[in-house]
Amino acid sequence: MTAAEVPVPTALMTEPDATGRFGNFGGRFVPESLVPACQELEAHFRAAWADPAFRKRYEDVLRDYAGRPSPVTVCENLSSALGVKVLLKREDLNHTGSHKINNVVGQGLLALRMGKKRLVAETGAGQHGVATATAAALFGLECTVYMGEVDMERQELNVFRMRLLGAEVRAVRSGSRTLKDAVNEALRDWVATVGHTHYCLGSVMGPHPFPWMVREFQRVIGEEARAQCLEILGRDPDYVVACAGGGSNAAGTFAGFVGTSAQLVGVEAAGGSALGARGVPGVLHGMRSYVLQDEFGQVLEAESISAGLDYPGIGPEHAHLAEVGRARYSSADDDEVLDALQLLARTEGIIPALEPAHALAWLARAARQGEVPAGSTVLVTMSGRGDKDAEQVMKLLGDRL
Ligand SMILES: *Cc1c(COP(=O)(O)O)cnc(C)c1O
Repeated sequence: MTAAEVPVPTALMTEPDATGRFGNFGGRFVPESLVPACQELEAHFRAAWADPAFRKRYEDVLRDYAGRPSPVTVCENLSSALGVKVLLKREDLNHTGSHKINNVVGQGLLALRMGKKRLVAETGAGQHGVATATAAALFGLECTVYMGEVDMERQELNVFRMRLLGAEVRAVRSGSRTLKDAVNEALRDWVATVGHTHYCLGSVMGPHPFPWMVREFQRVIGEEARAQCLEILGRDPDYVVACAGGGSNAAGTFAGFVGTSAQLVGVEAAGGSALGARGVPGVLHGMRSYVLQDEFGQVLEAESISAGLDYPGIGPEHAHLAEVGRARYSSADDDEVLDALQLLARTEGIIPALEPAHALAWLARAARQGEVPAGSTVLVTMSGRGDKDAEQVMKLLGDRL
């Protein structure tokens, strides 16, 4: 691309352009058969999001069912340990234990508004599958979740949870039998059943309008957090940090602070860092973004202890924020993450999920190395609680405790 072709940056974290692009990323790279479904969804989402009655219903459900607003906790002990003032946005306290409920409530209500009777979803670790099954139960929708066979073995308990909630879990036996194959199967199902089915995608990825729509349904994290920070600190934090798999909790958080002077930091898993050294621009799952690929353009498996961050790409808006320099992206490795998880547990009595422990691990390192200066104020999004990971952490730490 020559300099003349580089699009002029538009206002950040608003609507993508008419083709669904955030700068050089995003778009709608789907087979002809999926275009009408994406267009229908875009039109309905645009209308719903501009409709005060829809917004009110969404906000009511998030308050009365999911438990919003989630608090911001000032962590005095952790702050003393790190030498920076740490505030946590407590998405771990939501019903079902993470930020994922915000997105599935939004998409569930949208499905009802569109007259759809059924949700399909992809899931890797099973967290988005459980969240979608939850929303389907609440709204009286049928639910089918696609899950790689390998993941089904690794995450037996979540498979059971989904079935308990009334969802059908379909094993995906193609490719590497993990998350990226489950996305492909869910897209295939959607094309064939679009008359009565909505595809409830789990992060800020996929073809337009998903990255935009999911960010809007997660924007509540950042908007609440900004107001809470102003209340607590009397000003905006110096840093705003969130983990990024597909990037939805980070996008929702950043959306509340993109217009402030706060430095925005997304933290990927070292083994799944699409914006790190091994990521290259490419097309995956209907979008153009950074993707982990080998020299032949084959998509690589992301690998980390955190199943929720094992996505070989990242949402296109993050690629754009990185390119224009408004946010930066770093990573944390498995050992740092286990240390950070224990640090938060012991200093604050909060056991985080492995995913947000990446954000804490980055902060611990950056504070120690002076990259985040002593005395800075830092908001970290605690995207989920650690119950789901306790057994895995127990095995990893073994005799060390
Ligand atoms: C699924 C999940 C993530 C990763 O998803 P994003 O779309 O990157 O937010 C992070 N944290 C928790 C607790 C999750 O369940």
